[in-house]
Formats: sequence, structure tokens, C-alpha cells
Amino acid sequence: MRTLREIPPLRDTLAAFRRRGQRIALVPTMGNLHAGHLALVAEARQRADVVVATIFVNPLQFGAGEDLEAYPRTLAEDQAKLEAAGADLLFAPETPTIYPRGLAAQTRVCVPEVSEGLCGGDRPGHFDGVATVVTMLFNLVQPDVACFGEKDYQQLAVIRRLVEDLHLPVAVVGVPIVRAADGLALSSRNGYLDDAERAAAPALYRTLSELREALENGTDPDRLLPEGLARLRASGLAPDYLELRAADLSPLTATTRDAVLLAAARLGTTRLIDNLSLTLPR
Ligand code: AMP
Repeated sequence: MRTLREIPPLRDTLAAFRRRGQRIALVPTMGNLHAGHLALVAEARQRADVVVATIFVNPLQFGAGEDLEAYPRTLAEDQAKLEAAGADLLFAPETPTIYPRGLAAQTRVCVPEVSEGLCGGDRPGHFDGVATVVTMLFNLVQPDVACFGEKDYQQLAVIRRLVEDLHLPVAVVGVPIVRAADGLALSSRNGYLDDAERAAAPALYRTLSELREALENGTDPDRLLPEGLARLRASGLAPDYLELRAADLSPLTATTRDAVLLAAARLGTTRLIDNLSLTLPR
């Protein structure tokens, strides 16, 4: 697996793949890779001849006071994991390569509606940063297919919408959440948890699972969700939101069947997110 840092060799290498008629899959990440990321690489492998992974800790999607500086950077380990998982190429640019004019002057992509509320409400500008860098990666790599995790459910919805709205010729594939044995969704940020926090963290998945079962059995969400928030607090989590939406993240209506339960909660200074898809009864 080759690692490229600059745009011209990336374009040259990809042009050669394309001349040979090879299908290209893209897996964007911020590095510090775990089995969740590697599931995306495995999915990409199934869907294309060439798998291009990217590692870029995108400053445009971090807010003031968030963990941009502390975010774990583990390039050598990540390279070994990507190589073992079957990636063909790693693009790992430095920030000035992506944003040569600096962040303030950067042209941005904004995806209205689906970026609003949930994590977008707690992290203003976050999804504009995501949409901007993903659009840029789509332009640089011009993949046939791109794989994203369902763990970042709203992010996946934002990317699906931007691909539709900008008529981008890329197939977006969502990959199911990879979890630890106790149910906690794998995340680079889990490394911030101390032992006590790590022991409390599975309460997020456990609570979502309990709520899903009750919702699928017809319990009224208006009654259940406040109780869910109380259960999260009782487990030592500080919830930012707990919401039930239609699967496309539009507001729930009387006829919604395919739905998703989404939550974000803080444990100390670490913010965890999770979600479960479900089918509401008639
Ligand atoms: P990140 O490095 O956190 O930006 O994540 C890069 C990609 O990996 C995103 O598409 C995430 O949704 C996906 N991802 C992260 N954690 C998981 C997980 N536990 N299961 C599946 N996909 C994941």
C-alpha cells in the first residue's frame, strides 16, 4: 500500500487506475483506526478494484474548545492496519494541502435541513466542515463508491443529501456499526475514557436497545423518551439529545414505520454518539 501526501501524485496514480478501467472505492477517515474503520475497508474491497483510504483530521469540522489538538494521530499503526485490511492507497495530506488559504477563506459546502438539530445543534458548523471536506475528497479521488459508517448516522444522511443535491456520480454505501463485546460502538474517542467511564459507557447502547424494544412493541415515544433520558442520567451519562426520527431524519409522523433512535451523551469530557434503527408498529 502506498501512502501519498500530495495532490498531484494522488491524481496521477488514480488516473492510471481509471485508464485500466478499475473501479475505485473511497473510505474517508480521521485515523486512529479500529475495527469499525476496517469494516468500511472490507466493504469497499467487495465493491471495487481499488480501495483508497484517507486519513485527515479535518480542522473545519471541529468547533472551538473541541478536541482537534488532542485527537489521536497514529499514522504508522494506521498504515499497517490498512495494508492488512487490503487498502491499495492511503492519502494522508497535511492541513495546508487541503486548505492552502486557511480555514476562514475556505469555500464551503452547506447542506441545509439534514445538518440541523441532533449533532448539528450541539456542534454548530460541524456538518458544513464534514460536507466541505467530503466534497473535496470526492473531487480529488472521483470514486465510483464511497463507504461511511452508520455510527455517524446524521453524517451519512448529510453525505447522501449532498451527493443527491450536487448530482455527484458516486454511490454512497452505509456500513453497520461495529461494537465492542459489551455493546459500546467503537470510536476513536473511546480512548479518552478512564476505567470508570469505560465501565459506564455501555449504558448508552443498553438504554437505546431497551427503548427500541419498547417502541417496537408500541410504547408511546412521547412517554418513553423522557424516561430514556432519566435512565441515561441514572447511569452517569449526561445526554445532549435522545430523539426518535424517521429513517431519513425527517420528523416522525403518524405513518412513519422505518425510524431511527439517536442519542449523544457525555461521559466526563468525552462525547459519545450511538443510534439504532427500528420499525414502528402500525
Ligand atoms: P472517523 O475516523 O471517526 O471520522 O470515522 C471514519 C468513518 O468510519 C466514518 O464513516 C465513521 O462513520 C466510520 N466509523 C467510525 N466508527 C465506526 C463503527 N464503530 N462502526 C462502523 N463505522 C464506523
